Amino acid sequence: LLQLFLPLGTLGIVYRQVKYTLADMDMVFRLLETPQEVKDSATASELQVTRGEIRFEAVDFGYQPERPILHGVSFSVPSGAKLAVVGHSGAGKSTLSRLLFRFYDVTGGRILIDGQDIAQVSQASLRRAIGIVPQDTVLFNDSIRYNLQYGNPQASQVDIERAAKMAHIFDFIESLPEGWETMVGERGLKLSGGEKQRVAIARAILKQPPILIFDEATSSLDSATEQAIQHTLHEVAGHYTTLMIAHRLSTIVDADQILVLDQGRVVEQGNHATLLALQGLYARMWELQLHDDSR
Ligand code: ATP
Repeated sequence: LLQLFLPLGTLGIVYRQVKYTLADMDMVFRLLETPQEVKDSATASELQVTRGEIRFEAVDFGYQPERPILHGVSFSVPSGAKLAVVGHSGAGKSTLSRLLFRFYDVTGGRILIDGQDIAQVSQASLRRAIGIVPQDTVLFNDSIRYNLQYGNPQASQVDIERAAKMAHIFDFIESLPEGWETMVGERGLKLSGGEKQRVAIARAILKQPPILIFDEATSSLDSATEQAIQHTLHEVAGHYTTLMIAHRLSTIVDADQILVLDQGRVVEQGNHATLLALQGLYARMWELQLHDDSR
């Protein structure tokens, strides 16, 4: 009988592993709606993250060769710093985060993490080092516990609850009639945009990556939810090197550096005060936003 149970137990573990892996691939494909295009090189090494410093060196990129999107983009984010990227819609902001996660390979230049070219390391080691809070988080048709634990399948219930508290989603979960076992996703409870982002933040906290990418939702959240998320992110981002793709300027005033992209080129860089003083594109965008917010 024992002999029968042992393989069944192993099968259970294998099943869960496969489920996580499939869920992972499913999420990636659904997020991008694109086939996987990059391959590990035969000599790929493991990324060794020591400080979590990011550097883009003269990066060129286009989704199609005939339509270049990024032109010679260079910047660096020191260990533990927060860099925000702003620019008009279509400027190429989210593309930077997709390249850092290596969903695509650059067509010119290099992207380095702690001095290692990300094209030369294994994708698995790269993705272990980066937590992503995407614009629209995909939830699995499973319990809310599973959806949080996905950030780190080894996490204990204590860890999960701590992350949920940090992401300000704990009280919401506890208030549900079925609590942590509530089924979510397309066939379960539909979470709001803000709740889904907080699930994604909790996942990132559980993963404890040295590098965090936060792609702010384009669809506007109500201002109380947005403030709560910003507050959470501010607390969380302090621990990581953060690349923040900002669609609203109000959310990035405190960033260490702000990169202004225009049609795939870096046109300005500095902190909020220096960029305002430049009276260039950033200052114009800021003026426009103040005007919009006051309506
Ligand atoms: P927004 O603020 O509207 O989100 P963004 O600055 O983040 O814009 P990106 O998403 O980086 O812009 O897109 C930059 C350009 O690349 C756009 O012109 C877009 O049409 C194009 N693009 C984005 N994704 C793809 C894709 N998968 N295939 C082809 N072109 C794409």
